Amino acid sequence: MKLIQAIDDIRDAVRQWRRQDLVVGLVPTMGYLHEGHRSLIRLARQESDRVVVSIFVNPTQFSPTEDLAVYPRDLKADLDSCRAEGVDAVFHPSADAMYADDFSTWVSEERLAGGLCGASRPTHFRGVATVVTKLFNIVQPDIAIFGRKDAQQALVIERLVRDLNVPVQVITAPTVREADGLALSSRNSLLTPEDRARAPAICAALRDAAAALAAGRTDADALKALVTDALTRAGARVDYVELVSRRTLEPIRTVDEQALLAVAVLYGQVRLIDNVFLGD
Ligand code: AMP
Repeated sequence: MKLIQAIDDIRDAVRQWRRQDLVVGLVPTMGYLHEGHRSLIRLARQESDRVVVSIFVNPTQFSPTEDLAVYPRDLKADLDSCRAEGVDAVFHPSADAMYADDFSTWVSEERLAGGLCGASRPTHFRGVATVVTKLFNIVQPDIAIFGRKDAQQALVIERLVRDLNVPVQVITAPTVREADGLALSSRNSLLTPEDRARAPAICAALRDAAAALAAGRTDADALKALVTDALTRAGARVDYVELVSRRTLEPIRTVDEQALLAVAVLYGQVRLIDNVFLGD
């Protein structure tokens, strides 16, 4: 496995593979890899001949008040993980290599990125869309894998690929959870033991809403209230609980189409998101 930091070097490596007609898969990550990331890597291995994992804590998707400085990092453990999963190259650029001092060009999706996480993190998806576009341009993969845990992010990326004719096939993968239901996230490591014990309530609330829907409660406000109550009782500060169309991310009033129930909560300073696709 190669560890590559320079943009020219990852370009050279991928160019050589493509010359041999090998299919190249990219798994973009911010590192501190867990089983959710590893499931994406395994899917990339199934779908491609060579797998690149990028590890880059992208500063432009954090606002100045967010947790960039404390975002967990462990490159050595990440490299061990990647090696064990049969990754061919890890691309780990510096922030300076990715962003010139006078960087001034942004990619911004303007329909899907405004609600949900975009409402409380107004510059987040611009940072995500820009860095993913840069990674696509640098690595030039045939396919790229994203997790549906970040459902809005996956949708924004699918839209930018379509709208800007980016020659990359986007594949999404299901959310991997702890045995108690908590969606795996690098940020889980920042939770206090008390909050970690309470956090499975997020998944439980989503499952209860799905069960209520299956039992005939289709009113979006009623379902959202059920989830909000459960989260509040579990000591979480609710950022949002939203029921939206999974295609447009527009709010829906009655759950009569394939809907996405998405939540964001704060335990202390730790922001966690989760979602469930209803109506499947
Ligand atoms: P991150 O390192 O948090 O930026 O995530 C990198 C990729 O892993 C994104 O496509 C995420 O959606 C995906 N991911 C994060 N957590 C999970 C999880 N629990 N299950 C599946 N995919 C995940």
